[in-house]
Amino acid sequence: TKKVAVLTSGGDAPGMNACIRAIVLACERANYAVVGYQHGYNGLINQEYCLLNNNQVHNLIQRGGTILQSARCHEFKTDAGAKKAAENLAELDIDTLIVIGGDGSFRGADHLGAFWSGQILGLPGTIDNDISGTDATIGFYTAIETAVSSIDKVRDTADAFERIFLVEVMGRHAGFLALRAALASSADYVILPELFDNPETTLNCITTQLNERRKQSDHISYIIVLAEKLWPGGIDNLAQALTDKTQSEVRPVILGHVQRGGSPVSEDRILATKLGAYAVSLVSKDITGVMLGEQEGKIVEVPFKMTWGKSKPLDQQLVTTMKTLMNERYA
Ligand code: ATP
Repeated sequence: TKKVAVLTSGGDAPGMNACIRAIVLACERANYAVVGYQHGYNGLINQEYCLLNNNQVHNLIQRGGTILQSARCHEFKTDAGAKKAAENLAELDIDTLIVIGGDGSFRGADHLGAFWSGQILGLPGTIDNDISGTDATIGFYTAIETAVSSIDKVRDTADAFERIFLVEVMGRHAGFLALRAALASSADYVILPELFDNPETTLNCITTQLNERRKQSDHISYIIVLAEKLWPGGIDNLAQALTDKTQSEVRPVILGHVQRGGSPVSEDRILATKLGAYAVSLVSKDITGVMLGEQEGKIVEVPFKMTWGKSKPLDQQLVTTMKTLMNERYA
C-alpha cells in the first residue's frame, strides 16, 4: 500500500483545510496511509508529523486556516535543508508528497525534487491568485468576499459623512484581488500593479475624476481601492497626497490579515475538494513535479517551473469593465 504525506506552506488561505480533508478521505478510500507534516517545510526538516484519518477531518471543510499550520522556512532553501527533508521522507517510507501553497512553496517543492525521488504534487493555495497555470487558487474567492463585505461597510460610513476613503487590499504584487474586490463593491477607482504608471499621473486621474463627480453632485462619497505594496511610501503617503490635492480629508483603511481568515466560500471548498481528490488519484502514476490547477473548469497538470515568474495576466474583460465603469481616466 502507498503512503501519502501532505503539508501546507506559505501564506495560509481559506480552503486549505477543505483540501486536507479531501486528500485524507480519498486516501482512505484507496487504502493509502496519510501523514500530515506540520508547520510547512519546517515539519519536513524536523520530522514533525501526525497521522491523519477520518476523525481528524470530520467537521473540517468549513474551517478557515489550516490544521497542519503553515510557516515560512528559510532552511529549506538550502541544499542541506532539502537533503534533510528527503532523508526524513525516506525514513517514513513516503511515496507521495502533496504540497498545498503558493509559488514560493512550489519553488521549494521543485528544489526538493533534486534530492528526493518520490512523487511530488502541488496544489495552489493562496488568497493572491498569483500562480500561473490555474485560473483560480484555493482561498482567492473567500478573500474577495471578505474584502467586498469590508468595503461595503466602509461605504456606509463614507456615505454618511460624504468622505473619501482609501482601502488597501492584499494580493502580494498582483492585482487580482484588488480588481475583483473593487468591481464587486462598486468602488470609484482602483489602483492596480499591472496598470500602474506613476504616482503623479494616478493622482491627477483620481482628482480629475473626483472633481467631475463633484460637479454632478454635491453629496458624494468616494472609495479608492489600492493594491498593497504598490504606492511609494505606502498608503499613508497616498492619503496625504490626496488630502493635499483635493482639500478634503482622505481616510486610509488597511484591510490586512482579515482577508486571510474566515470560513471558505463554496467555490474555494469545491476547488480544494476537487484538486485534493484528483491529486490522490495520481498516486502511483508516473507523474511528478507538477502543480494541479484548473483552467476553464478542467483540471490541468502544470510543471512547477511554469507556475512562477511569468506574470499571469488579469482577466481582460474585467479590466475593460473596470475602465468603463470606474477608472474613467486611467493612466
Ligand atoms: P504566499 O504567496 O501565499 O505567501 P508562498 O508559498 O509563495 O505563499 P513563500 O513564503 O514565498 O510563500 O514560500 C513558502 C516557503 O517555500 C518558504 O518559506 C521556503 O521554505 C520555500 N521556498 C520558497 N522559495 C524557495 C526556493 N527558491 N527554494 C527552496 N525553497 C523555497
